[in-house]
Amino acid sequence: MRIERRLFLAQAGALAGAGLFGCEGAPTVVAGPSVLVTSERRVALALAGMPTTDGAGVRLLRVIGQPALRHLDPFILLDRIHSDDPGAYIRGFPDHPHRGFETVSVMLDGRMRHHDSRGNHGLITGGGAQWMTAGRGIVHSEMPEQEQGLLHGFQLWVNLPASEKLCPQLYQDLAPSRLSEARLSPSGNTVRVISGDVSGLTGPVLPRPTQATLATLLLEDDAPFVMDVPRDHTAFVFVHTGAVHVGPERTSERVAAGTLAVLSPGNRIRVRAAGERSGLIVAAGRPLHEPIVQSGPFVMNTDAEIAKAWDDYRSGTLDRA
Ligand code: MN
Repeated sequence: MRIERRLFLAQAGALAGAGLFGCEGAPTVVAGPSVLVTSERRVALALAGMPTTDGAGVRLLRVIGQPALRHLDPFILLDRIHSDDPGAYIRGFPDHPHRGFETVSVMLDGRMRHHDSRGNHGLITGGGAQWMTAGRGIVHSEMPEQEQGLLHGFQLWVNLPASEKLCPQLYQDLAPSRLSEARLSPSGNTVRVISGDVSGLTGPVLPRPTQATLATLLLEDDAPFVMDVPRDHTAFVFVHTGAVHVGPERTSERVAAGTLAVLSPGNRIRVRAAGERSGLIVAAGRPLHEPIVQSGPFVMNTDAEIAKAWDDYRSGTLDRA
């Protein structure tokens, strides 16, 4: 208990310091005592994604951000697009705004092109990702760069703390070769790290205020995959292919494709394929514990800030300092 208590105080100190660093990214972590006890996370909540449409009629699975799970601090939304029917995705996401958070696009198959109001543009291709800090605001489009074939990807919205919601915009376009990849077993279990430290690999994303960890996993055999995460970070896995066992070996729970597993507190995540080839994403992040007021593409702390965002959007000044 004593160690736990001291760890909590060290982390509280780190949080209190976060505001000092403005828009520079992650707070400096105050070195605390090492945690001696390993506690493997269990499945606290299993939830099926909800089919819906968004953008100009794109069919997708809403995982976080649906009525049964509005938010999962610091995560605001998780969508999955998966279709080989162009009618399900071809209309894409024409010009729309964002303010107050970060959007992370992860492509497994297919190509999406983005353009924004500040002249930025880029292509997100299968195996790659884009980490976009909307900050004070952007207006952008996200459109499939293909007229047929499989489009499979995710978008995760990661919140920003109040002190950084109006930061300058930042794009981190991550071609497939920039992600950190490791083969974990002879049969080809593979982890690809986008952000944070996983199994000795560090993802290419610059440190973020939420210290987010994000990786994709492909499990070809039933060798367990284990990764350590900060004990107090929110963590989840979303299975997109096959099925996996999540949690301590003796008490693990089976999580099938299309299901989100929100994990209990703990400092280790254990996942093992449940007898078939499986694919999943794993994420963790520091909860912000701040008020969340969301209005569509804006995520702020107060109603007044939301009203200001809509006013700025209508007057064409959303992306200005
Ligand atoms: Mn968008």
